[in-house]
Amino acid sequence: MRLILLGAPGAGKGTVAKQLTAIDGSVQISTGDILRAAVKAGTELGRRAEAAMKAGELVSDDLIMGIMEARLREPDCQSGFLLDGFPRTLPQAEALKELLARLGVQLDAAVNLNVPREVILDRLTTRRTCVDCGAIYNIKSKPPKVEGICDQCGGKVVQRDDETEEAISKRLDVYQEKTAPLVDFYRAEGLLLDIQATSSEVAVQAIRAHLGI
Ligand code: ADP
Ligand code: ZN
Repeated sequence: MRLILLGAPGAGKGTVAKQLTAIDGSVQISTGDILRAAVKAGTELGRRAEAAMKAGELVSDDLIMGIMEARLREPDCQSGFLLDGFPRTLPQAEALKELLARLGVQLDAAVNLNVPREVILDRLTTRRTCVDCGAIYNIKSKPPKVEGICDQCGGKVVQRDDETEEAISKRLDVYQEKTAPLVDFYRAEGLLLDIQATSSEVAVQAIRAHLGI
């Protein structure tokens, strides 16, 4: 499958994407994960993205499109892809449309995960992430077996730098302003699947039903 996952920070894009990859071997592509890995590795890309990320602002469209063009050309994308956290602005959506046309690839849908704001705020403040493999935990609903240690890889499980209350509220504002308009963009493209994502399981079911898989 070839999907875009839209939704506010904390709507569950990453969790839904992981469950979908298990169905048909499509790859999850998370621009947030790619950027965090670059920051951690101290690459040029990481240095250019770090300040914006820490403040909850968006990284520039040019930087993101460079990453995504290279990523979408990799051979593992042939079996399908789930775009998690990209596109995030109208210029990115336009540039993606043009890029996919050039690559001769067609999207199945752009899925919008709707989740109430209170649920999002609660999830983000209690979310914890493994610094090594990106596995996601929640101190209330899904804590690691050993506090602070990843079940999957033994890495450190921490609160992200951009998951302070201030940065979270900034990210939600940026989402409303820059990313929410993509819902109308994809509706106009005839690609929108708008779902009430009360849980990731409900979201995955709705997506499967829509795609007939
Ligand atoms: P979220 O939980 O907010 O969906 P992500 O892991 O997707 O978080 O992204 C973390 C940060 O990385 C964003 O706040 C932003 O600074 C940067 N980022 C990720 N994807 C993009 C993108 N497509 N365009 C611009 N910035 C991005
Ligand atoms: Zn881990």
